[in-house]
Amino acid sequence: MTIFNLGSINADMTYRVRRLPRPGETIATQSLDRGLGGKGANMSVAAARAAGRTAHIGAVGPDGAWAVERLMEYGVDTRSIARVDAATGHAIIAVDEAGENTILIHPGANAAITPEMVAAALDMARPGDLFLFQNETSAQAEGAEMAREKGLRVAHAAAPFDAEAVKRVLPLLDLIVLNAVEAEQLEEATGKPPEALPIRDVIITLGSEGCRWVHTPTGASRDFPAYRVTPVDTTGAGDTFTGYLLAGLDRGMPMAQSIAQAQRAAAIMVTRRGTADVIPDLKDVQDSLL
Ligand code: ATP
Repeated sequence: MTIFNLGSINADMTYRVRRLPRPGETIATQSLDRGLGGKGANMSVAAARAAGRTAHIGAVGPDGAWAVERLMEYGVDTRSIARVDAATGHAIIAVDEAGENTILIHPGANAAITPEMVAAALDMARPGDLFLFQNETSAQAEGAEMAREKGLRVAHAAAPFDAEAVKRVLPLLDLIVLNAVEAEQLEEATGKPPEALPIRDVIITLGSEGCRWVHTPTGASRDFPAYRVTPVDTTGAGDTFTGYLLAGLDRGMPMAQSIAQAQRAAAIMVTRRGTADVIPDLKDVQDSLL
């Protein structure tokens, strides 16, 4: 089976500064790191590293060939990444000496993805494949509708949270992954607790507390404690979790086993600095002593 992931591809430009600039102020930076980022790309890398067959649906501009190459190196099928006439999505991240940051995100090419591009990618899909999407691209609802019509299982990570966007796709979902804040926001937006949502499986991640799985047809919920590690950088933990979870499900693993493996991968991830480039592979996860 294949995971079709409609998602953002960003260049994360991280600048170290002594202190963050005030409005109107100009500051010289001390260093620059350019890495692959974007929730979509992170999840594709995680799913591919978890040995899931992963096809990314997305778009980059003329300056994005390196990002596509990097995804390919990580084992992601990049044939459905379009080249469009817009800047590749990017994040300008300033981090000061205390670790405080400010982030500007320019969606660029991620916002130029059309329903036609998604349709062309899903031509290769078969019933039973998985369709995953987050909230950093265009054509999400149309993509989810097409995937559902074709008999794919539809999964959504509702981040960054937007009440209107998520309400529109809710009836199309089989699985939703939310962090604790997003789960509260969704409950506020719909007036419904997770167990009353029209989605079969709801997973709420709780950082160092682990996660909760709610199986709505039976109303059963199960808590999974997190693995104990000393965190260094939690960036990308959620994306790693979701990519691994989907890969487990795609390979036919039961939900509880997929969650356990996803939590193990996410726990390793929080002990590493960086995002897509440091997501652990399946061997790291299986060999870890957690
Ligand atoms: P982020 O935005 O930082 O990527 P998130 O808010 O989407 O993360 P979290 O709920 O913080 O998601 O974390 C996702 C999963 O990562 C958790 O369910 C857990 O398995 C793992 N995790 C996160 N923080 C820790 C930690 N300190 N120790 C162990 N595991 C962790």
